[in-house]
Amino acid sequence: MKKDSFCKIVNREIISFPVYEDDDVLAFLDIEPKTTGHTIIVTKKHFNDIESVEPEIGGGIFTVAQKISKTLKDLFEYDGVVLLQINGEKVQDVRHFHMHVYGENLNQKNNLYKSFKDEKERKDYMSKVSQKIKESIAKL
Ligand SMILES: [Zn+2]
Repeated sequence: MKKDSFCKIVNREIISFPVYEDDDVLAFLDIEPKTTGHTIIVTKKHFNDIESVEPEIGGGIFTVAQKISKTLKDLFEYDGVVLLQINGEKVQDVRHFHMHVYGENLNQKNNLYKSFKDEKERKDYMSKVSQKIKESIAKL
């Protein structure tokens, strides 16, 4: 089976900006953030979707989502936090079980990625924000 991009990120074949990691789960910044700190949480072991994920490992995603939600709210003062988890071969952007976590403000547009002027600005954002979140989660 051809490896998907999340498996490659877990195996460090693709560079990512991680914010949290444990034995079962890796969390890293979305390269096209809706809002500042938009994070994707994946299982390290490959599962296609909610129907195939081992429940104990899938449960770990929620534990991490809770940490990230709290951190994003504290750091960036969001009105709320969205957890987004999509299943189905035709609708998943990456066919590897994952969950998006991003903050939302009532008057904010959810397309931060469109505001990056160039690749340098995106990379600056990725390294600065991932560091901030990582440090904050470590204190929880
Ligand atoms: Zn995978």
